[in-house]
Amino acid sequence: MLARVLILGGTSEGFTIARALSTTGQFDVVTSMAGRTPAPKQPAGKVRRGGFGGVAGLSSYLTRNNIAAVVDATHPFAHQISQNATQAGQACDVPVVHIHREGWQQRDGDKWIEVGSSAEAATTIPANARGVFLTTGKTTLKDFAERRDVHFLARIVAPILKCDDVGLLPRHISFIHKRGPFDVARERGLLIDRRVSLVVSKNSGGSGAQAKLDAARELGLSVIMIQRPPPPTGLIVANATEALDWLHRTLNLPELMISDKRLAVTD
Ligand code: NAP
Repeated sequence: MLARVLILGGTSEGFTIARALSTTGQFDVVTSMAGRTPAPKQPAGKVRRGGFGGVAGLSSYLTRNNIAAVVDATHPFAHQISQNATQAGQACDVPVVHIHREGWQQRDGDKWIEVGSSAEAATTIPANARGVFLTTGKTTLKDFAERRDVHFLARIVAPILKCDDVGLLPRHISFIHKRGPFDVARERGLLIDRRVSLVVSKNSGGSGAQAKLDAARELGLSVIMIQRPPPPTGLIVANATEALDWLHRTLNLPELMISDKRLAVTD
């Protein structure tokens, strides 16, 4: 019987692992998505959607589905599901690894203002600022609703029907609906065309969303950078390659036939 691996998805690393495991023929791969994005990109292998129902629900899922190992490839800011995975793995004696990619580091020329949360980012924006580029995700937008003196440009993946869903009026916020990865030339063009004066970002790390920071540096723009929550407890690796090595060792399988090319994280 094939070893069944649950990938907690939502990042490019999750797609990379699903693709790499599926091509070996040695795994039955299931990727779990939170289900908040309409028409999300499809990973290789099987997909399930929606929450499990906390630690108890995830534990029950692991047991019922005979999961041999869990790869937590969720976003570094998705702290709750990562902690749930650690606890459910312990409760069911199922091995769990967390991929926790490195955060971005300030470089020469960067003008970062580091804050602890999106709420703190909202209070840090200067009065009456125009062209404040929010790249912090749809669920954080409500944290900026008190700042009706500011004009925001928010980039999100999923469309929002009404802007007052986030507590703001059309004169306070405009939306761009776009999924990464992004490149520096286009990001530079966007910052110039939309007269962006300040960028607000989570410190997500990775390559897919980094271009806006490079463009902001080139244009001398400040970035309000939201720091990460603490890393999850349990076993942590830095990338998809290390997670696949761990799976190989943990499940005692013959050598994985995965080329470096297939493992390249492209988005
Ligand atoms: P979170 O706060 O850690 O999780 C909240 C709840 O959402 C979890 O307790 C769980 O519900 C459910 N959940 C989260 N990820 C799930 C998954 N992959 N499969 C099934 N259920 C999941 O998570 P979040 O920050 O809202 O992120 C949700 C998803 O968006 C994650 O897959 C994450 O990788 C992705 N994402 C997040 C961010 C971000 O900035 N937070 C950015 C990009 C992508 P139950 O307790 O009911 O199981």
